[in-house]
Amino acid sequence: EKALEVRQLKKHFHLGKGSTLKAVDGISFEIYKGETFGLVGESGCGKSTTGRVIMNLYDPTGGEVVVNGKNVFRLQGEEQFQLKKTMQMIFQDPYASLNPRSTVAEIIAEPMEIHGLFSSRKEKMKRIYELLEEVGLNRDHANRYPHEFSGGQRQRIGIARALALDPEIIIADEPISALDVSVQAQVVNLLEQLQEEKGLTYLFIAHDLSMVQHISDRIGVMYLGHMAELTTSSELYTNPLHPYTQALLSAIPIPDPDVEDEREQVIIEGEIPSPIDPPSGCVFRTRCPMAMDVCAEKMPVWQEAEKDHMVACHMYDNDVNGVWTTKDKAK
Ligand code: SF4
Ligand code: MG
Repeated sequence: EKALEVRQLKKHFHLGKGSTLKAVDGISFEIYKGETFGLVGESGCGKSTTGRVIMNLYDPTGGEVVVNGKNVFRLQGEEQFQLKKTMQMIFQDPYASLNPRSTVAEIIAEPMEIHGLFSSRKEKMKRIYELLEEVGLNRDHANRYPHEFSGGQRQRIGIARALALDPEIIIADEPISALDVSVQAQVVNLLEQLQEEKGLTYLFIAHDLSMVQHISDRIGVMYLGHMAELTTSSELYTNPLHPYTQALLSAIPIPDPDVEDEREQVIIEGEIPSPIDPPSGCVFRTRCPMAMDVCAEKMPVWQEAEKDHMVACHMYDNDVNGVWTTKDKAK
């Protein structure tokens, strides 16, 4: 069952003088109830913008986001207000996203007050204590201020606030990237435990494949506003099809020093081009070691190259210029 569907989503920013930044340029994916979907790519690929458009923090340029069968961009008034309970966001920098002048109790209470959930202060405090305990803090923390906490604890406060309205979907935008490595695993464990208890659906945004490998059921890889590849986590790591994914994966060291690294190194050269003036055809072609003539002429189609394995790359077209059949060429 689908929790969230993103269809041909676009977000362009008009910068004046006729130039347009195509931050997200027609991506599609779906997230099933109770799963963790990892959305991965280098900075500037459009992954955070995607999260923010889904949350309705930015207006979309085109496309649809469907939650519980409803197009969220078409909702208005009460329906839109209610939808805000369904989806909540956790941010990369827990410090920047917490008001320094509010106590922890005030921070956590805010969304609940906006939605008018309480009839008494006693009821409100009970719920705040409950939420603090759910994220591994306790009631003694309620009257303290964000600066009194460590980075990991602050992220726990951000998580408590996100849970306050009992959401179904949580969009986590690089929730552990700003934390010490020693704390990252604790926060990931907490998120996993909460998912199990509450049946939450996660969209987990990260810049690094190694960060989402273990927690994601499925992963989408983005490059320059486009989706390059999407499949299950295990399939992506064992059988990456897109040259960009192959390059990202070959940059991750094999953790066990006794295992010899026999993978072919795929090195990508150069910088990410500007999304203001992206390359013609395949947006990855300026850095792709496999680029062919057709890559400059035609944008590759987003297609299912293997079962439950989507990719946008001409190597997997069945007929490029009538010359060859792909999958043979790719292998
Ligand atoms: Fe590389 Fe061409 Fe595939 Fe793009 S379409 S990833 S340039 S081979
Ligand atoms: Mg970002």
